[in-house]
Amino acid sequence: MQTVTQISQVRTEVANARKSGQSIGFVPTMGALHAGHISLIETAARDCDFVVVSVFVNPTQFGANEDLEKYPRNLERDVEICAKAGANLVFAPAINEMYPEQNLTWVDVDKITTRLCGQYRPDHFRGVTTVCAKLFNIVTPDIAYFGQKDAQQSVVIKKMVADLNMPLKIEVCPTVREVSGLAISSRNQYLTEEEKQDAKLIYAALKKCSQLAKQGEQNCEILIKEMKIVLAASSKLMPQYIKIVNPKTLADLETLIDGAIAAIAAIAAKPGKTRLIDNIIISTPT
Ligand code: AMP
Repeated sequence: MQTVTQISQVRTEVANARKSGQSIGFVPTMGALHAGHISLIETAARDCDFVVVSVFVNPTQFGANEDLEKYPRNLERDVEICAKAGANLVFAPAINEMYPEQNLTWVDVDKITTRLCGQYRPDHFRGVTTVCAKLFNIVTPDIAYFGQKDAQQSVVIKKMVADLNMPLKIEVCPTVREVSGLAISSRNQYLTEEEKQDAKLIYAALKKCSQLAKQGEQNCEILIKEMKIVLAASSKLMPQYIKIVNPKTLADLETLIDGAIAAIAAIAAKPGKTRLIDNIIISTPT
């Protein structure tokens, strides 16, 4: 496995792989790799011949008061993890390789980016879609892999790819969790033990919602109320939003639609200073 920092090197390596008939899989990450990222890389390695992982803490997706500076970085460890998981190439560019001058061109997906997290992180998705568009143009993958953990991000990226006729497929992989149910995240490193205990309630609430829906409860107001009750077990856990949304438009639902993917229940909450997000796919009884 090779690690490169220049766009031209990625283009050369990908062109060589393509020349020998290999398919290209791509996993974009911000590093601080964990079991969630590993599952994406392993899936890509199973599906594709040549797997590229990018490690880039993208400044354009962080708000002014967010954690860009303190975001965990450990490239040496990330490279080892990528090699073990079956990656062929790690692309770890410096900021000025990706943004050599002031960026004036943005990819901005309307409407669905203003809901859920978009309400609290106004320019976040514009940064995500722009950097993903740039990375897709650099890596030119056949398939790019994203995690269900960031449900809104996956929906937004899929919409961008469809609207702009980008020639790749987006594959969304299941959320990897700790035994406690807590969704694994690079930001979990910021949590104290006590905050981690409180954070478990997020998945407990989502699971409660999923169970009630499976038992036939279709009223979203009731389902949200039930999630609030679970979260209220800790007075220190501050919910930012608790929503049940249409899985494509991300608009709030009043009643569950019938089906295997009837809705997404999504929560953003702060067990302290750290903002955590999680979600669950809701299905109704068959
Ligand atoms: P990040 O490094 O946080 O930008 O995440 C890179 C990719 O890994 C995104 O597609 C995330 O959705 C995905 N990811 C992060 N955490 C998890 C997890 N616990 N399970 C599955 N995928 C994840």
